[in-house]
Amino acid sequence: MERDGTTRADTVVIGGGIAGAATAYYLAKGGQKVVLVEKGTIAGEQSSRNWGFVRQQGRDPREVPLMAACNRMWQGLEAELGADLEWRQGGNLAVARDAAQVARYEAWLEVARQHQIGSRVIAGRAVNDLVPGLQGSFAGALHTPGDGQAEPAKVAPAFAAAAERLGAEVRAGCAVLRIETAGGRVERVATERGAIACDHAVVAAGAWSSRLLRPLSIDLPQLWIRASVGRTAPVAAIGDGALAMWAPGLGVRQRRDGTLNIADGATDFDLSFDALRHGRAFLPLWRDNRDSVAVRLGPGLGATLAETIGGTERAFTVHRTLDPAPNPARVASALGALARMLPGLGNVSVTRSWAGYIDITPDFIPVLGAVDAVRGLAVATGLSGHGFGMGPVVGRVSAETILKGQASLDIAPFRLSRFHDGSTNAPANVV
Ligand SMILES: Cc1cc2nc3c(=O)[nH]c(=O)nc-3n(C[C@H](O)[C@H](O)[C@H](O)COP(=O)(O)OP(=O)(O)OC[C@H]3O[C@@H](n4cnc5c(N)ncnc54)[C@H](O)[C@@H]3O)c2cc1C
Repeated sequence: MERDGTTRADTVVIGGGIAGAATAYYLAKGGQKVVLVEKGTIAGEQSSRNWGFVRQQGRDPREVPLMAACNRMWQGLEAELGADLEWRQGGNLAVARDAAQVARYEAWLEVARQHQIGSRVIAGRAVNDLVPGLQGSFAGALHTPGDGQAEPAKVAPAFAAAAERLGAEVRAGCAVLRIETAGGRVERVATERGAIACDHAVVAAGAWSSRLLRPLSIDLPQLWIRASVGRTAPVAAIGDGALAMWAPGLGVRQRRDGTLNIADGATDFDLSFDALRHGRAFLPLWRDNRDSVAVRLGPGLGATLAETIGGTERAFTVHRTLDPAPNPARVASALGALARMLPGLGNVSVTRSWAGYIDITPDFIPVLGAVDAVRGLAVATGLSGHGFGMGPVVGRVSAETILKGQASLDIAPFRLSRFHDGSTNAPANVV
């Protein structure tokens, strides 16, 4: 500790979700003195609230090299972290809405082939044959036997605990208020428990990343959408008990204890001031997905406007853990779809439901790597609703850029500057 009470670290990682916890782990493994700062609890926001799919299939081709590497990481992650993550490599199945979607899956197989992912498209009754008891008539599905699942609530805490064992300091319940710079580079990270002087800061703050960067005049186009999930009582094993299926109107994953995570696959967009700020950039994404996103007018608009006027620092301490209300109609709709598609499960009850705010970017891919405007500053964010599966590799490449000056995989497509130099492309995911 320095004389004015400031502590010192090589790198401060902001945000204890899977992106931040994994980054802190790989930095500590690389020998750095790291402080991981989390305003609430480790994995309190998206990283514990997600469905738990670990999916290579259907991703934007720009993500696939990272996700293929990440799939290999998952296979050794429990041993690496010394923790039970409920990892199971039971495959992922995405059932198509119609023939046009099957055609998009077929086209995507070329991406799978380039990266030896082993995906395949199956048609008609073969979809029902794959999932014992599945009812309905389907045009086809994308199936990747090498994809898997894990228990979200266990993974980021396992990364954080492993980082601590390597000497990292984990400060939970401690908000970062701002990043301070001097001479164009990161100087300190100010937290509500004092400042941390550092050479590098990594913004891995999930839904809050844009707000943390704004006072530095760094624009990250980012919005939040609310996704609702239900958890059922245990049911009989569906096939091998590791089903991870995304079908029209139903996302379902069977957990190790036999319970199911279910969702209807649609989301709610609670109107915020950020929608006015970033709205234009999101129009193409909105046009492609408007059938599955419902716009809601609520208190969020006034609250985010007040923040914009009064500054964001207070918001970090007021919202320790974002815990939005689930939409009961979405959970009921998912339960109805489950009863129709898997009637053999009998009368299934929902024991709890929750929601999470997903942070999304206009092109639906992450934002990774150094920020040009401020030396020593990097981002690992914008995981756009599919970042749980990708979290380990996001942590690894983020750490590599600091430890070695460059990542071992190409992260150029994820640079922040793409939003400002006109090089953003439309989303290219098919799932
Ligand atoms: C319902 C739902 C279902 C999903 N399903 C899947 C799925 O099946 N598979 C998949 O791959 N992905 C899925 N996702 C997406 C996935 O959960 C996210 O992409 C991923 O968890 C994002 O991780 P993160 O670390 O970037 O953000 P988060 O987990 O949100 O972590 C960010 C952390 O930063 C902290 N923070 C923010 N500001 C500050 C500050 N100023 N000071 C200190 N700390 C701060 C927050 O408190 C938070 O804990 C789903 C998401 C949801 C909500």
